[in-house]
Amino acid sequence: MLNERKRSEQLYEEALQHIVGGVNSPSRSFKAVGGGAPVFMERAEGAYLYDVDGNRYIDYLAAYGPIITGHAHPHITEAITKAAVNGTLFGTPTALEIKLAKMLKEAIPSMDKVRFVNSGTEAVMTTIRVARAYTGRNKIIKFAGCYHGHSDLVLVAAGSGPSTLGIPDSAGIPTSIAHEVITVPYNDIPALKEALERWGDETAAVMIEPIVGNFGMVMPHPGYLEAVCSLARGAGSLVIYDEVISAFRFHYGSTQTYAAFPDHQAIEPDLTALGKIIGGGLPIGAYGGRKEIMEKVAPLGPAYQAGTMAGNPASISAGIACLEVLQTPGIYEEMERLATKLKQGLLDAASQNGIALTVNQIRGSLSTHFCSHEVTNYDQALDTDGELFGRFFKGMLAQGINLAPSKYEAWFLTIAHTEEDIDRTIEAAAHVMAAL
Ligand code: PLP
Repeated sequence: MLNERKRSEQLYEEALQHIVGGVNSPSRSFKAVGGGAPVFMERAEGAYLYDVDGNRYIDYLAAYGPIITGHAHPHITEAITKAAVNGTLFGTPTALEIKLAKMLKEAIPSMDKVRFVNSGTEAVMTTIRVARAYTGRNKIIKFAGCYHGHSDLVLVAAGSGPSTLGIPDSAGIPTSIAHEVITVPYNDIPALKEALERWGDETAAVMIEPIVGNFGMVMPHPGYLEAVCSLARGAGSLVIYDEVISAFRFHYGSTQTYAAFPDHQAIEPDLTALGKIIGGGLPIGAYGGRKEIMEKVAPLGPAYQAGTMAGNPASISAGIACLEVLQTPGIYEEMERLATKLKQGLLDAASQNGIALTVNQIRGSLSTHFCSHEVTNYDQALDTDGELFGRFFKGMLAQGINLAPSKYEAWFLTIAHTEEDIDRTIEAAAHVMAAL
């Protein structure tokens, strides 16, 4: 049954008068899927979102990743409520911060010391500053299609060749800053080698999403992370992992201890940026790493970073509660089982309707690419049918399935999704694909 979204459309018209583009993050707009009013949600519970018109959606957006426990998980809600009752902000340290810091350190052993901030953007931005302070170098190398938030340095993409100095991706970023950034293709060892041969002695850090979540879900080729770490270190550069999406997404821990990479030491970064899941649905970011590097940060060292809201009790309490839930045995296996079924259902529906579809799945996450080739780097993700995805997205929405409005974004399962939700999603996909 197709839903009606009149109230959402009215609210969008109103929002356009007051909020730039009607949205507080461009990724929420429907610009990349052919336009139209985004859906205005009113509440959420478990695997479901409910909009202002009373429609229910099975949600695979998970707010772009943080909501791995499902919406309004009672354990997290209780923790936030308690924190709110006790006072939301003191401007002083709290014992809660130590508890979450210890939980993160235990789960991510490369982090000797941690600092909490308010977003993934802040976390990444500060790791770069700290790497520059530690190495006394300015340049960073990053990978095409990896998103690291909206700070100046990481909104720079490749120039004309695979390893040229960057050009800004956004207005407002000086060319001088873009020239501090080199972008190379992901999963391409020779390209990184070439960049390091040319700029290695000026490079403060190689910054990477060790498992990509921003041009679909993409695993590094076997040996790739090992090569990234050893090449960077060979040039005297630090390695920064942006695990804002990947930490606690595939198992209780980060990429650094994920079973797919047996030699954990060979892939250990110097600094790690975190966000999303570790805040249990409230604003958070964190970064951490080796003691001698982290001690460059104020008040111990000369690299300045601060935050009025950093480590606030509500975000920290939600984070602790979320990680406690994620310690439940078997949850990652169950998300993987359901995602595997969903992947197969989507592939079957596509092939029955003569549609070329590639699905990348990593445990409980997947990405859909309307193409007949594999997707292991950004160029391959670009070379997919965005127009078809846009129509698929809108068809799924009309069927009560909420996906991210972009062909590059992942589908995230949560621990609240049931077999019935997956069956219903496959049925909806078959219906939508038949009409594409
Ligand atoms: N790093 C990665 C890998 C991300 O996916 C994102 C956001 O999607 C960020 C950093 C930025 O995080 P935030 O939106 O919390 O600033």
